Amino acid sequence: MTNFELQQLVEHISKTAFHQPFRHRASFNNRLKTTGGRYLLATHQLEFNPKMANLPVFEQIIKHELTHYHLHLAHKGYQHKDTDFKQLLSQVGGIRYAPDIGQRQKTQHLWHYQCENGHDIFKHRRFQVGRYRCGQCGARLTLLGEVLNK
Ligand SMILES: [Zn+2]
Ligand SMILES: [Zn+2]
Repeated sequence: MTNFELQQLVEHISKTAFHQPFRHRASFNNRLKTTGGRYLLATHQLEFNPKMANLPVFEQIIKHELTHYHLHLAHKGYQHKDTDFKQLLSQVGGIRYAPDIGQRQKTQHLWHYQCENGHDIFKHRRFQVGRYRCGQCGARLTLLGEVLNK
């Protein structure tokens, strides 16, 4: 599945299951290991694990991430512990946890940084942006926000 096909699939599932459009970007990220997908709170983008794209549960993984997405945009409870999240997730038939492929990895908090040239950087630890530079181009970094890394 290409990124373009993924984008189409996410838009389609959003329309049919949530009756609302998906207006942001969905893409594959090779660096996701055991996580099925993630939602970037700052940019509203969705990222998915390409290793899970052929699994029968992949649509349910998309529904899980879209549940975060739509609730966050509607200013409702978008976290796993929230009642809004649990209700909408079961309503659309989303999966609660991504299937375990490979070794189990503890889900960690993730922070989304971006450099002045638009390179995305994800770190488990929050740090002072003034003390670090982009690893790819050396430009300054800003903290965009949190990532729901599951
Ligand atoms: Zn950079
Ligand atoms: Zn989640």
